[in-house]
Amino acid sequence: MSNGNGVKTITIVGGGTAGWLAAAVIASTHCKIAENTQERPIKVRLVESSDIPTVGVGEGTWPTMKNTLKDIGIKERDLFAHCHAVFKQGGKFVDWVKGEGDFYYHPFTVPLGYGRIDLAPYVDNIESYAVESNYQHHVCEANLAPRTISEGEYSGQCNYAYHLDAGAFADLLKHHCRDNLGVEHIIGTVDKVCVDSDNYIERIQLTDGNELVSDLFVDCTGFKSLLLGETLGVKFKHMDKYLFNDSALALHFPYNEQDDEIASHTIATAQNAGWIWDIGLTSRRGVGHVYSSQFTSDDEAIENLSNYLGSRDISPRKISFQSGHREKFWLNNCVAVGMSGGFVEPLEATAIMLIEISSRFIAENLPPNRQVMKTIAKRFNQQMDYKWSRIIDFLKLHYMLTKRPEPYWVAHTDPESIPETLKEDLAVWGYRGPTHADFESAIELFPAASYQYVLYGMGFKPDFTQQQHLYNETQQAQLIMQKNAMLTQQMLQKLPSHRAFINQWLASGM
Ligand SMILES: Cc1cc2nc3c(=O)[nH]c(=O)nc-3n(C[C@H](O)[C@H](O)[C@H](O)COP(=O)(O)OP(=O)(O)OC[C@H]3O[C@@H](n4cnc5c(N)ncnc54)[C@H](O)[C@@H]3O)c2cc1C
Repeated sequence: MSNGNGVKTITIVGGGTAGWLAAAVIASTHCKIAENTQERPIKVRLVESSDIPTVGVGEGTWPTMKNTLKDIGIKERDLFAHCHAVFKQGGKFVDWVKGEGDFYYHPFTVPLGYGRIDLAPYVDNIESYAVESNYQHHVCEANLAPRTISEGEYSGQCNYAYHLDAGAFADLLKHHCRDNLGVEHIIGTVDKVCVDSDNYIERIQLTDGNELVSDLFVDCTGFKSLLLGETLGVKFKHMDKYLFNDSALALHFPYNEQDDEIASHTIATAQNAGWIWDIGLTSRRGVGHVYSSQFTSDDEAIENLSNYLGSRDISPRKISFQSGHREKFWLNNCVAVGMSGGFVEPLEATAIMLIEISSRFIAENLPPNRQVMKTIAKRFNQQMDYKWSRIIDFLKLHYMLTKRPEPYWVAHTDPESIPETLKEDLAVWGYRGPTHADFESAIELFPAASYQYVLYGMGFKPDFTQQQHLYNETQQAQLIMQKNAMLTQQMLQKLPSHRAFINQWLASGM
């Protein structure tokens, strides 16, 4: 590498979702390049420890996963069959506004008329923005699939992502990487990471004495951040000033009946000092409570979870975490992907999406020498830093508009706990809603639509009267809302129940 031969060998350390997804994206990209150029593909190897478990959670994805699976060559049907997967059409936020049974959706399909007209000034009740502007709200409420049985893989009437079994997903990726993408799989625990005088990683030593030399190392060691954090000393930037949660209780919970409805959205129900996630798979539900140890105890959190599930017989697993990310994500010949780079609470399931994006960046930007590597690393760091700041702002938006009275929620409304960038956005949105113009960066993660759903769902109504002359399309807006009502009826009639669709699809072998 130092003599300008480029990256020929990549070693990924860690066999969780981050490690195997990174391996699949990098190896599949370079298999395709090699096919077209007749060159030998770069060597991708993955080392995972059989002694250190993966985090074992992370069951909600983004719609970006559709393209990622297509790119790496996994059929949607195989995902469903192996990972007990189901469709995810967005998130339902229950009790976030007042805690009195209120709820709103953040669906994945954009509102009708999106980009042409903002319907917010024309709806009677701002909290029902998603109800009036998007039929997907109703599709989710009715537990319907996003497509009919006659439509093909990766398509549908509504935009969607997946809920999946995290362990089974890593396993599916592992087999695909080994069997189809030429990834070398080494089982071993890294004991020592050896760096040269320039602080580049030269080799890693495994406990069995094996040594591995590589041009590029991808740190997928989870919270440990063994290579980037522990060895290269890249510091962690804490974000708990904005997002207070630092603990989670997770468990698998059976359906009452085998053919119970499966929700096609994540249900996030607010609690006194956090929230409970509820993710339905075909075989079971994955349920967990994310909370702040500063505002509640483990016992109270278990009590909340028990009450939510209506069962005293639960033994959840506790996971503690720090909210934040590394100061840099790529340093010298080491790049962090997954939780080794950072983690904040899973409210909008952003972690796996960041793994997809990071892996694609690495696959498409392998540098020819160390000089270029520095530039690539700088760009990656700038982009990731920006993305993290947008994630933190967007997550904070879910909290800061609450009217709940408990100390945890009140603390979230304290201006001191709100990022300056979000305060600036809110000042603009005070007199007009979020628009495309606010999100023009090519590396933006959430579109204006996402901000609209959350902002309006939380009951924030811009003072549209300040620029009344801009909102003179009442007739047009009413036509669009009528069209939404008509499409809603059509969808409710033609889309099958979520569980029925999956059963029929998998049984048909189509
Ligand atoms: C409560 C909770 C809920 C979550 N929910 C979501 C969600 O809904 N959606 C989402 O996108 N994300 C979610 N996440 C995040 C998601 O789980 C992770 O981003 C994802 O699982 C990737 O984890 P990872 O591979 O980085 O780390 P891990 O799964 O921890 O894997 C680390 C790997 O490194 C290996 N390793 C460690 N040390 C060594 C060593 N010395 N030698 C060799 N190997 C080593 C381990 O064996 C393991 O294979 C959630 C996280 C938490 C905590």
